[in-house]
Amino acid sequence: MVYVLGIESTAHTFGVGIIDSKFNILSDARSVLRPSGTLGIDPGEAAEHHSRVAVNVLLEALDKANLKLKDIDIVAFSKGPGLGPALRIGATLARGLAFKYNKPIYPVHHGLGHIELTVHLTNMKDPLVLLVSGGHTAILAFNEGRWRIYGETLDITVGNLFDSFARRLGIGFPGGPVIERMALKGKRYIELPYNVKGNNVVFSGLLTHATDLVDKYNKYDLAYSLQETAFSMLVEVTERALIQTDKKEICIAGGVASNNRLFNMIKTMAEDHGVKVGRLEGDLRRLNGDNGVQIALLGLLYYEAGTPATDLDKTFVYQRIRVDEEDVPWRM
Ligand code: ATP
Repeated sequence: MVYVLGIESTAHTFGVGIIDSKFNILSDARSVLRPSGTLGIDPGEAAEHHSRVAVNVLLEALDKANLKLKDIDIVAFSKGPGLGPALRIGATLARGLAFKYNKPIYPVHHGLGHIELTVHLTNMKDPLVLLVSGGHTAILAFNEGRWRIYGETLDITVGNLFDSFARRLGIGFPGGPVIERMALKGKRYIELPYNVKGNNVVFSGLLTHATDLVDKYNKYDLAYSLQETAFSMLVEVTERALIQTDKKEICIAGGVASNNRLFNMIKTMAEDHGVKVGRLEGDLRRLNGDNGVQIALLGLLYYEAGTPATDLDKTFVYQRIRVDEEDVPWRM
């Protein structure tokens, strides 16, 4: 049996996941930063949080998996995209472990982790993927060796939209789940800017407008209207990409995939096309958000595909790196 340890540190979460080569999840330990400021996640604060909790999260993951560090065969870490200082904490820990125990190391793309974990656990073969989180809002399909982007946000992500609006209401991070609960109490739709350009979406006008209305309207009606508008835009572009790619499955991945209204809206659209929709449900729902398991899975997939491990002096981190820059050898 091969054991893989994955380290996640791109933004708010420091996570360590351990899996075996049959993809049993042996542990999923995490510590999530609750940002103290009013401007979102401060990169320095995230790095400080990660360096403070890293050893305990690592030990918790090993303990839950009933393994020792010397039992780990492969180390993987999130190389990006994310906050530079936060990424460096995960990368430094991963390099240290790989060096001390002389193990292969794989720096992997965080967004690709969301995609592959969700596709794998929903048993989908060749889906259109709607990746919606704090760092990503994109529609992807696998084509000629990579997950290609068929539509995306041209400015902020849908997760940012909800978190920023929530901050304006005085709600702490993460704002998305609270906005979802508030939206259930909304009764009246307030017209907000709907901005779709081809297969792409633009959310900043929607955020500015909704934020400007906070003192004028009922906050539940506003949360409802914000969600309905943002998700209608995502359904429109997903439907267009679905028709263009002719896929028979849609997979929703990332933190915002936990939102039931989004899932139901995509499902209604997909049913019109006879297409199946999947996301992580039940106990697996916690894996929609950032975690070390998705990073460990990529480490295993690269290893099994025969990809050589990365030389330690080339294990860089990248604040910006797109999913479609990554080769996906296990799907070729
Ligand atoms: P990325 O993973 O792309 O780097 P991230 O680290 O912010 O971004 P995740 O942990 O996958 O992403 O997701 C967090 C985001 O998901 C936050 O913006 C949060 O508000 C949002 N979110 C979580 N649950 C819900 C929900 N039920 N409804 C709407 N948004 C949600």
